[in-house]
Amino acid sequence: IERLRGRLSKSRSALGQGLLGLLGAGDLDEDSWEEIEDTLLVADLGASTTTEIVERLREELSARGVRTSDDARAALRDVLIETLSPEADRSVRALPHEVDGAKQPAVVLVAGVNGTGKTTTTGKLARVLVAQGRQVLLGAADTFRAAAADQLETWSQRVGAEVVRGKEGADPASVAFDSVKRGVDAGVDAVLVDTAGRLHTKTGLMDELGKVKRVVEKQAKVDEVLLVLDATTGQNGLAQARVFSEVVDVTGVVLTKLDGTAKGGIVFQVQRELGVPVKLVGLGEGPDDLAPFEPSAFVDALLG
Ligand code: GDP
Repeated sequence: IERLRGRLSKSRSALGQGLLGLLGAGDLDEDSWEEIEDTLLVADLGASTTTEIVERLREELSARGVRTSDDARAALRDVLIETLSPEADRSVRALPHEVDGAKQPAVVLVAGVNGTGKTTTTGKLARVLVAQGRQVLLGAADTFRAAAADQLETWSQRVGAEVVRGKEGADPASVAFDSVKRGVDAGVDAVLVDTAGRLHTKTGLMDELGKVKRVVEKQAKVDEVLLVLDATTGQNGLAQARVFSEVVDVTGVVLTKLDGTAKGGIVFQVQRELGVPVKLVGLGEGPDDLAPFEPSAFVDALLG
């Protein structure tokens, strides 16, 4: 939690400390409630989530007959955690399965708009799995961004995973297919496919990403479709997420760059809006800067 606190320092001062300051000020008049609302909106919680949190907080404070700032803090903590759906299943399904007596790797597609941190997340996730003793294969199916395959190859060397890449400009679906095939043949534990992230039009995305998924499914079940969202893009990220979830069944969200934003409030919106759990968060550019998302630890770090 200490580390999380450090990484979330911007969101912490904007959101956590801001709210605690307001709540700690004693009796709350309408002006204070408006300030609380503004704090939530500025931190990117969006209108409807903000309204819900403020309502719940008012209820809790009056139900508990709250007086001290410690009580107010406890009520805020509970309401924020509750907003994050603490009961959701956040495990990343990256374990191999048996199919007709043969080992089949877990298949994870990593999707998202370019620049959100897709390739970096794929590398970091490989590192976590390799550290757990799993054999991982990386598929460089982002063939549109010239440097993506090189970047993934660097990660593969760094973490000790094999990489499959296609020729420049190759069809992403064919690279994804080859990666999964190689993974199945080699009997690895997990294949992580870095997909192309061109969100030019919804149909374009559907053609590309939808095709990747369909083609991969000819060989192996897709266990996870992780959507990578850049927390610093706020509401825009949320709009991207809606489009992606219309195109493929997104099974989990990875929220990156939480270390660099005062707008960590986006976390509170994602699951509520999309009905998909945030499973992982990116807290920096380094290989160990990927963490499981745990609502109570997150809220505790925010509140300091
Ligand atoms: P892609 O185009 O989606 O594959 O994006 P990249 O993986 O190339 O990442 C884009 C930039 O964001 C790179 O400079 C990464 O180092 C950086 N990045 C990725 N994740 C994080 C994160 O969690 N925190 C920070 N601060 N930077 C990140």
